[in-house]
Amino acid sequence: MINHLFQALRRASLGRDDAPFLYDNRTGDTLTYGAFFENAAKMSGVLHDLGLTPGDRVAVQAPKTIAMLELYVGTIMVGGVFLPLNPAYTPAEVSYFLGDAKPLVFVCDPDDEATLTAIAKETEVAHLLTLGADETGTLTNARNVAPPALPVARSPDDLAAILYTSGTTGRSKGAMLSHGALTSNSDTLRKLWRFTENDVLIHALPIFHTHGLFVATNITLMAGGAAIFMPSFDANAIMDALPKATALMGVPTFYTRLLDQPDLAEQSRNMRLFVSGSAPLLTETHERWQRVTGHAILERYGMTETNMTTSNPYDGDRRAGTVGFPLPEVDVKVCDPETGATLKQGEIGVLEVRGPNVFSGYWNLPEKTAEELREDGFFITGDLARINADGYFQIVGRSKDLIISGGLNIYPKEIESAIDDLPGVLESAVIGVPHPDFGEGVVAVVVAEPDTQISPETIASNLGDMARFKQPKHIVIVDALPRNSMGKVQKNILRDTYANVLS
Ligand code: AMP
Repeated sequence: MINHLFQALRRASLGRDDAPFLYDNRTGDTLTYGAFFENAAKMSGVLHDLGLTPGDRVAVQAPKTIAMLELYVGTIMVGGVFLPLNPAYTPAEVSYFLGDAKPLVFVCDPDDEATLTAIAKETEVAHLLTLGADETGTLTNARNVAPPALPVARSPDDLAAILYTSGTTGRSKGAMLSHGALTSNSDTLRKLWRFTENDVLIHALPIFHTHGLFVATNITLMAGGAAIFMPSFDANAIMDALPKATALMGVPTFYTRLLDQPDLAEQSRNMRLFVSGSAPLLTETHERWQRVTGHAILERYGMTETNMTTSNPYDGDRRAGTVGFPLPEVDVKVCDPETGATLKQGEIGVLEVRGPNVFSGYWNLPEKTAEELREDGFFITGDLARINADGYFQIVGRSKDLIISGGLNIYPKEIESAIDDLPGVLESAVIGVPHPDFGEGVVAVVVAEPDTQISPETIASNLGDMARFKQPKHIVIVDALPRNSMGKVQKNILRDTYANVLS
């Protein structure tokens, strides 16, 4: 038997060990496929020597480095389950994840070792190793071991990774991702987005998240292409890299920030593909990008639990404000939130997804899994969506962001779109906050275009065509919306900040 995911990641580079895989933007070094897989095998040797048996978890809270990618592949090779954690998590949060996932090994930043040693002990982690931003640490020191001769056999149903969801409401849950789900999804995207060994991807996304770890990394490996590997987003570094690259995968904030760069059009001339996802791309950003660079950004939609679910077409119209069509072999439907019945085209409901891309359930939470993963295999995403007349899917927001005011449903996206269309407005976020009469009332938080003045009164007076109950009862102008590292607007923070403005 073979190791399902490992074989898929290695297939395209077999016999091409001298081909470049990673251009390290920090050191200027080039890492070939041969060297990468040799290092990954050494990582698997370290884990094997620590007694890792198939199914054991390897948790990692470390800065983004190539060694961390080698650890990811090494974990897969030895049959382990890779569990990356956002470096922004506090020790208390890490303690929760370790206690919940019970990893055999925890790898942390050497700078955090003093704080996290006690936590690792309390949560009964057998081995604590370190891995720093410059690739030093006990993990890389230990890697001069003989790796096991062969990758451990793993079938498509075996677990490859656990990713904790961002958990903006309630406790974060560990989404269990199988070898089969990760392999099939990246292979589908590779074909759809035409990745080949000639591609050079700018890799500036974090690798604790599905976008940077699975979409960006797995696709590059499965295509046998190369990536310019950056520790984080840096507009200047990306501008320098663009002429040497063919593709960029980013969150919407990458694109808004790059639009401020004067040489963008010139530098992008050799690029073939810009992909955006993880948060909604503003229509305005899509249109400006196309005007400036001549490229239509390809927007796709997915989530930790489902990998990628829909994508705009590679050939054909990449429609701004939409996330395109369901991927091959993936069933997507828009359902009534109460009854689960499939709704008609044009109606707004909860998106449900079924296919080889969908996760295997939440770690240690069979009841939560049963609530969200139906017996017929459909996963209830919690995203509100609508299918437009041409079959393109549009994400309208999260169902938990739905505002119910005086018993009437209000979709924040509808109001945000109306506000965003007003002259002088860059973007907005609409939230529901407690209202003494109506239960909830609408509050709009608005960011003006740079160097532009706009007042709440002007905005309010321009929304007169909207039904009264939808009109914001309070409008605030702010410099920027709070966002997490994946570019998602943190509406929970806005709801806390403006909790009392209507009471
Ligand atoms: P995560 O699990 O962190 O990847 O977050 C997934 C969530 O991000 C989805 O459930 C959506 O709410 C949101 N999301 C991802 N891609 C898009 C997109 N292209 N447009 C709108 N929302 C998106």
